[in-house]
Amino acid sequence: ATPTAIMVGTGLGAKRGVLFRNALALEASARIEVVVMDKTGTLTKGEPEVTDMVIGGSGLSEAEILRLVAAVERESEHPLAGAIVRHARENGTPDIAATRFENVPGHGAIAEVEGHRVVVGNRRLLDREGVDPGALASARDTLAATGHTAVLVAVDGVAAAVIGIADAPRETSADAVAALRELGVEVVMLTGDNHATAARIARAMGIDTVVAEVLPGDKAAEIARLQAGGRKVAMVGDGVNDAPALARADLGIAIGAGTDVAIEAADVVLMRSDPLDVAAALRIGRGTLRKMR
Ligand code: ADP
Ligand code: MG
Repeated sequence: ATPTAIMVGTGLGAKRGVLFRNALALEASARIEVVVMDKTGTLTKGEPEVTDMVIGGSGLSEAEILRLVAAVERESEHPLAGAIVRHARENGTPDIAATRFENVPGHGAIAEVEGHRVVVGNRRLLDREGVDPGALASARDTLAATGHTAVLVAVDGVAAAVIGIADAPRETSADAVAALRELGVEVVMLTGDNHATAARIARAMGIDTVVAEVLPGDKAAEIARLQAGGRKVAMVGDGVNDAPALARADLGIAIGAGTDVAIEAADVVLMRSDPLDVAAALRIGRGTLRKMR
């Protein structure tokens, strides 16, 4: 490897805010065949907003349910929890306390509020709790089919509401997928969100391969699976959940607006948080390698 080629590549990257940690990162960029992209906060803006709330037959009003849910979600650090708390505040929901809060990674959260057991999360969490969504199943499916994340709420073992949450795609996500394909790279979406929601969003972005409902601890194993046969895999992510996968990949790429944990685990940092810069990083790597031969 000639030091000049590496300096040129590093400089080209720096000019557009693509920071390579070292010469190895630059070389690895040249050889990537598969790019795995986290959904929330990477392909989407990571600013989820409540768009819908459908209530079921629990006997509680929408305002009462929102009060209970907000109390649970105020204790959670999940971005979806933030969206629900904001929505509750905008609706003038009073703050009440939750006790015995339990975070269930990849599923949701559970707590006790005013003597009620309140469960907030995905389908898997309600299954685990033995709660039948009943008439709310169709609202849940419709929300998922339109690209929303459907958050289910159960109060004392009864399905009480479905909350629809939308997270807008980043402006350049579809272009970034097209640019990667032009480089002959396969693009995969990796997410903890449910299959229907992820598939809808992936289709809008031109992504064929979706790996959904992956538990936070299993993202790195998914990378290892894609590496079978010696394929060179890059992972692009923003969250604490993504750090082990970023470390496991042949090239870890962190979104600059992401968490410090993700940035520390990565080989490349995209300071502009623009998915198009993933393709730029690979092109710079290829250009550098050509000069090194
Ligand atoms: P991701 O951030 O990729 O969507 P997570 O593993 O953090 O993945 O979460 C997976 C799913 O679990 C979410 O899509 C959501 O359905 C559910 N979930 C997790 N935490 C919460 C929470 N605090 N409130 C509601 N739903 C949650
Ligand atoms: Mg994310």
